[in-house]
Amino acid sequence: MPIWRRYSDCVEPMKVYVSGLYSGGNPQPGVGIVRSLRQAYPKAELVGVEYSNRVSGIHWNDLDDLWIQRPWDELDLDSYGARVRAALDAGGFWISGSDLEAMWLAALFPDGHDHLLAPPMGALRRITKPAVEAASGLPVKIPTYVSTDHSDWDLHAFCREHNWRVWLKGPYYDAARTPSWDVFEAVRNALSKVWSTERLYLQAHVSGYEESVMLSAYKGELLGAVSMRKREITPEGKTWAGDISEVPDEFMVPLRQMVKELQWTGGGELEMVRDAAGQAWLLEMNPRFPAWVHGSTIAGHNLPALLVQAASGVRAVPAPAQGQEFTRVVLEVPVRPEYPLPPIPEPFAGAIGHSLKHPSGLTSLAKKLHNANPEMLEVVSEEGGPTGLPTIPDTFVDDIESYDFDAVETPQFLFMDSTAAGLFKRAGERSHRLSTNEVQVVSGYSIKTNPDERLIRLALENGFLAEAISLLEVHKALEVGFKPDQVILNGPGKWWPEGMMPKERMHAVFCDSVADLDRTVGAIERGEMSSAHVGVRIRTPNVVSRFGIPLDSPATFRELVAAVKRLPADTAFGVHFHMASSNIGVAQWWHLFESMLKWCRSIEKLSGRTIDILDMGGGWFPDDWHADDDSKFAKAVETIRAMLPNVRQIVSEPGKAMAQPSMALAMRILEIQEHEDDKVEAVVDASIAELPMYFFYPHRMLRKCSETGQLQPLGRGKTHLMGRLCMEHDIVAANVQLPEGTRAGDLLIFCDAGGYDRSMSYVFGRG
Ligand SMILES: *Cc1c(COP(=O)(O)O)cnc(C)c1O
Repeated sequence: MPIWRRYSDCVEPMKVYVSGLYSGGNPQPGVGIVRSLRQAYPKAELVGVEYSNRVSGIHWNDLDDLWIQRPWDELDLDSYGARVRAALDAGGFWISGSDLEAMWLAALFPDGHDHLLAPPMGALRRITKPAVEAASGLPVKIPTYVSTDHSDWDLHAFCREHNWRVWLKGPYYDAARTPSWDVFEAVRNALSKVWSTERLYLQAHVSGYEESVMLSAYKGELLGAVSMRKREITPEGKTWAGDISEVPDEFMVPLRQMVKELQWTGGGELEMVRDAAGQAWLLEMNPRFPAWVHGSTIAGHNLPALLVQAASGVRAVPAPAQGQEFTRVVLEVPVRPEYPLPPIPEPFAGAIGHSLKHPSGLTSLAKKLHNANPEMLEVVSEEGGPTGLPTIPDTFVDDIESYDFDAVETPQFLFMDSTAAGLFKRAGERSHRLSTNEVQVVSGYSIKTNPDERLIRLALENGFLAEAISLLEVHKALEVGFKPDQVILNGPGKWWPEGMMPKERMHAVFCDSVADLDRTVGAIERGEMSSAHVGVRIRTPNVVSRFGIPLDSPATFRELVAAVKRLPADTAFGVHFHMASSNIGVAQWWHLFESMLKWCRSIEKLSGRTIDILDMGGGWFPDDWHADDDSKFAKAVETIRAMLPNVRQIVSEPGKAMAQPSMALAMRILEIQEHEDDKVEAVVDASIAELPMYFFYPHRMLRKCSETGQLQPLGRGKTHLMGRLCMEHDIVAANVQLPEGTRAGDLLIFCDAGGYDRSMSYVFGRG
């Protein structure tokens, strides 16, 4: 046990500089540190450090003095560094309340300084997000993540895999949920602009309760640590109230070891989520005390005081615990007359980027640090890492090369012959592999996704059924060669247009509502239509949908069961559901699938009708549907067998899984405009009228080199491809990189345009 000096024995008053005084809804810890130090050292001279006089924490009355600097963008870092060094040499201590300032200080003092109470550079490097390599000895896991260096195609796959419950995170601050592709693109643009880096990462969301461990250490010795569970959070997810407890041994022992290995000095915080199974997931480690630091002091653990005590050798006044829980209140404090309020209140300019929330110009500090040493704060560094270029399947290249582009007027959809044939063939073969004597597995091609005759014919040739949502689509299928008993009729508009309902027996009809079912039963009784299977589409509970018969209240469920009982006894019964896994995510779709089977079982029990045909709809993204291995689908067949033993046929209705890769859009560059900072705007002769799905998912893009004829994939960069339309939002691709030598007249090809891009494209701006 060291022998501390008593404060009264000291000749000079102790001076502590504390930065990070921002006290808005997403506060920095400075004010909490100051309050805790004041309690421990009533007579110490506490100096608040800030980079703007707009930070309200400078008015906190525990501060004896203020050191207000110019904002970071205006500050001369060399001369400021010299002044900080002089302050430390003169005996002052420095506790940093800002991550970026701590990084700058670590760079300024490569060998540390006894009075600098912040971690050394070596430690900071080992806690960079998202891997937090230093924490490998702690009983925590790191949520799955992917660097945004990967191609958009792969990032979209990551989002689907994780049910679009993902966070896009910046290297220093800022994280945003990105529940859809357009939000992802917007946030990526904003974050990379604000933090001057393309190096962001996407991380899977972990559901659970948030907790943190705060620590205090001096030269590798752990002085104290507490555990805090968030009990109340702000809309931004920041702590509003919490409870404090001891850190359990299984965490404390490796934590002590980690602090030692890192030679940590200063405060620190490990932010975690604990999932339902009790596993802790580490979100990040901050090189400073957290903003709730004083909540711990209230509970009898004054960690800033332990830090100053260890560094100064001066004993802190002990603070008794006042309770194990703390909460925040909003306080009005008098404004210091020497720092009157600025004349105009700063408007709140949006949620992204601390430059907008923090007036001290932290983002320009980020830029300066980056320029000084781009390696210093590398977020995700992978050896031989991703190039951002999408992988282009060989059949795409073959199909595109089969065109004589001199004869192709642009914009023009290109049918990808061998690609389309391969997709239908493989899907047909898989159905065959999964089928048994008891249960047949079959696909029905969703005509609406792309009613191109070539696709409908491929469906016919590969043993598909035809799935139609209107009588016009039924007739299209019949014209191409489908027999009526190979047609599934679906959707809310199946009676349109009037008078076109075939009289021959169809394969299956699924009713979208109780009224639709009664109308169908009536028509069958009157001999106006016929179907081997008649079924209902059930509405997905929990996932919002306008389609199908709802089953989430006892009353609606009773109505559904009563309707099923009215079905003619000589038609087989079926159930259909459809929810796009491309929207809700793959894992969530499988979850939904299992829940739907349970509903099916209840319908069987209560209606007394057994289910002959189960139709699981479409909505798969091509890569998810054409996954190489059958095992998931084989397991699904087994599950259906086990839960619904009377099912004889399992149908799925892929649309875009078949159609989307089967066409590409060729376009030509009309003009290239180069702007400052390497920004390029290229106008093309295509537009969002040909690519209406541009906002929903990425497209793999190629340029055909005008000299060699070679097809070159486009990676990410600073070029915007502007559509030909005179419309503000007609930007068909943002942040791509045109290969060197690209000129006006060159050909670009957007792959993955054969689904709704093709079928929903419209004629616009053509006179
Ligand atoms: C649109 C539709 C499909 C196909 O959906 P995709 O997203 O193109 O796979 C399948 N079944 C029904 C009932 C549909 O309405």
